[in-house]
Amino acid sequence: MITPHTRRPRRIYLHTFGCRANQYDTERMRQLLELRGCETVDDPGLADAVVVNSCTVTGNADSELRRYVRRVGRRGDGALPVVVAGCATAVAAESIRGLDGVSAVVPGQDPEAVANSLGVFPRTAAEMAPATLDRAERGTRAWLKVQDGCDLNCSYCIIRVARGRSRSRSPDEIVAEAQRLAEHHPEISLTGIHIGLYGKDSKPRVTLAALVETLLERVPDVRFRIGSLECNQLDDAIIDLMADSDGRLAPHLHVPLQSGSDAVLRGMRRAYRAERYRARVERLAERIVPLGLGTDVIVGFPGETDGDHRRTVELIESLPFTYVHVFPYSDRSGTDAEDLPDRLPERVKTERSREIRALVGDKARAHRRARLGTLARVVLEGDADEVAVTGDYLKMPALDSLRALGRRLRTARIESDGNGGLVAAGEG
Ligand code: SF4
Repeated sequence: MITPHTRRPRRIYLHTFGCRANQYDTERMRQLLELRGCETVDDPGLADAVVVNSCTVTGNADSELRRYVRRVGRRGDGALPVVVAGCATAVAAESIRGLDGVSAVVPGQDPEAVANSLGVFPRTAAEMAPATLDRAERGTRAWLKVQDGCDLNCSYCIIRVARGRSRSRSPDEIVAEAQRLAEHHPEISLTGIHIGLYGKDSKPRVTLAALVETLLERVPDVRFRIGSLECNQLDDAIIDLMADSDGRLAPHLHVPLQSGSDAVLRGMRRAYRAERYRARVERLAERIVPLGLGTDVIVGFPGETDGDHRRTVELIESLPFTYVHVFPYSDRSGTDAEDLPDRLPERVKTERSREIRALVGDKARAHRRARLGTLARVVLEGDADEVAVTGDYLKMPALDSLRALGRRLRTARIESDGNGGLVAAGEG
């Protein structure tokens, strides 16, 4: 057990599982620990303590966490304190507390609670926890969490249990944070657990579009990117902002579909149906060209028939996706879907996943071919600025002519690498 009298660790290793919201939360933990004089290290072998920010989105995530905690806790003299925070601790604190090597469990992602669990307390007023993140540890693109939690109730999802109800940060706090991040990062990605719910709990209410418009006005010279947005929150105001921002609001959206079958969407308790999804995404695609369009699909949800799968394939065929994340359904204990009948064999899930990945793979290649010879607004990332990232979320090697211009938002010409791939050249 760690107490205020415990020797405070000097070097701390932070390990993050899961989504961008979790990565952002870890950055806040790192910032506070460094503010209080700790050093964060890149190797647990060099650390006096380890903080694991956990994920619990699937059963696999839980077992990965347990394997990792056991492994990292077993080092040399075995005295390495391991603090586990994050979503898994919010739903299974006691069982995680019982794992070998775990010295403290912090339900959720509060940086102060994590610091205190390590015996790292403020020594002066200057070491009080800041309300904003000043800089991401590394990388060109920084995450900015604008919202947390979710008010929806999808039958397969445990996140709403782990993260609680939707809570929005104030626009002023978000703008202040973005202004600080903009000093170090030419691109800021807005993230959260369900950012489409942004502002619904605010008094007075604020819309996501209004927040983005304010950020574009008050934080110039950076590109903003919206992480993931549900189709029924993809309103014309967001689309207009994206169309009229001259690339400062990246022409890229991740719009989870999960299934193209209304029967399956009903079983998932998703808040939309296939035609609504199609209509909103078609509206987006007709206004935003080129467009980076990603989605999530769950294959093999209990009861999914061949016909349901065909409907998903047909809907995907009809829309201009440029990438897809396919998840073979797996039970998550503590969710309602866990009790649903009509399980599908893994073989069928594998076949259906393969079909959808192949389909979107062809679309992604066609999208890249269509970008050849065109101009793109890019930022550079990688330790040597060797990767160019376009607004529509293509990544390609950056030629010296582009790297010489620095990592801020630039115009590049997309050229062939002579090998079927793309490269980005400087265009001034
Ligand atoms: S929208 Fe559904 S899947 Fe997403 S966090 Fe909320 S409950 Fe979970």
